[in-house]
Amino acid sequence: MLIRIAAVLISALLSASALAQYPNRPITLLVPYAPGPTDTVARIMAQAMTKPIGTTFVVENRPSNGGILAPELLTKANPDGYTILIHHIGMATTPALYRQLRFKPLEDFEYIGLINEVPMTLIGRANLPPSNLKDLLTYIKANSAKMSLANAGIGAASHLCGMLFQSAIQVDLLTVPYKGTGPAMNDLLGGQVDFMCDQTTSTTAQIKAGKVKVYGVTTLKRVASLPEVPTLDEQGLKGFNIAIWHGFYAPKGTPKPVIDKLSAALQEGLKDPLVKTRFNELGTDPVDPKRGTPEALRSHLKAEMEKWAPIIKAAGVYAD
Ligand code: ASP
Repeated sequence: MLIRIAAVLISALLSASALAQYPNRPITLLVPYAPGPTDTVARIMAQAMTKPIGTTFVVENRPSNGGILAPELLTKANPDGYTILIHHIGMATTPALYRQLRFKPLEDFEYIGLINEVPMTLIGRANLPPSNLKDLLTYIKANSAKMSLANAGIGAASHLCGMLFQSAIQVDLLTVPYKGTGPAMNDLLGGQVDFMCDQTTSTTAQIKAGKVKVYGVTTLKRVASLPEVPTLDEQGLKGFNIAIWHGFYAPKGTPKPVIDKLSAALQEGLKDPLVKTRFNELGTDPVDPKRGTPEALRSHLKAEMEKWAPIIKAAGVYAD
């Protein structure tokens, strides 16, 4: 009995000292897509959080169809604060899209905080004939059998946006899944696919350089970095409104003091003027640092799950 008590005490002391020393080695940051917009947000934040947390981050891209592998990997990681995940709106939409999902977004994780909100744009290859949404819709109706819409697989934001676009214009298009919109963008630039939705984080520079055509912004408000680009809503696709958001997650059971340290580092990062400048150049905004908390992320996730489930159900899209 005494030995057992001593063992429990020693392990408590050990874990208390491990906690006090946390972090004393690099933190792995899982990214559910190939290098692209989510990866860019991850790397900007990893850099901004390095000083406040006191260690570096190793970004690990674990792409899969729709980004569902990385959260599953997080459920199997040690809950010691040395593995965390960035994910976006896909965390909220995949439960409605997949009949079988190996994680439960509201039960299987600890929540660190929200990072940013970012609109998407509907873009096309530079030599796609139509130059505005009206002409694009006419062109799609005449050529729908030949046209291809890229995305990052079922569960990705690009998929959700493309699905809503097809349902808004009542046309079924050939969709081409990639491991992220980064590789999809390469093919769009090369003219191998016709169009796609992607976060302004990736599209702003390409639009400004004239390397892609832009047909509209997916939120109800225009984007400050692209003021001349109209929204899809104002061009007639009434109510078209998707804003992507990112958050950081940790494995379930990660001790609260560790989550608090990660969350505090996130809030410091969100206050960093360099983050604001860099995000703004990319057409996105860091959230108010007050939302870089576990409560804010979990409640936003829950609200987004409740918002999107009926919309996805009505669209009748499922994956196994
Ligand atoms: N955000 C993803 C990426 O970084 C793609 C997506 O959600 O469509 O590639």
